[in-house]
Amino acid sequence: MTQMEYRTLDETSRVLIPKKFREALHLEPKSQLKIYLEENRIIIEKAELSCRMCGSKEDLIEGFPMCRSCAEKAAFLLQASK
Ligand SMILES: [Zn+2]
Repeated sequence: MTQMEYRTLDETSRVLIPKKFREALHLEPKSQLKIYLEENRIIIEKAELSCRMCGSKEDLIEGFPMCRSCAEKAAFLLQASK
């Protein structure tokens, strides 16, 4: 089901996402978003953090887009290359 609301950009071109939309997607302050420009529409999507190496969404290092397994492999490779 599509929900729609009108919003006005503030003086610095920011827009407040309606509370019920934030709650529906469990968005909190500092949540990461993806923003797309598509023809004449701007699409905002909740960004699901995933490991940039393997794509896993599990066992991520907090605040960093890499899982512990890949971080360990990267550390091993760094050690091996010395
Ligand atoms: Zn990984």
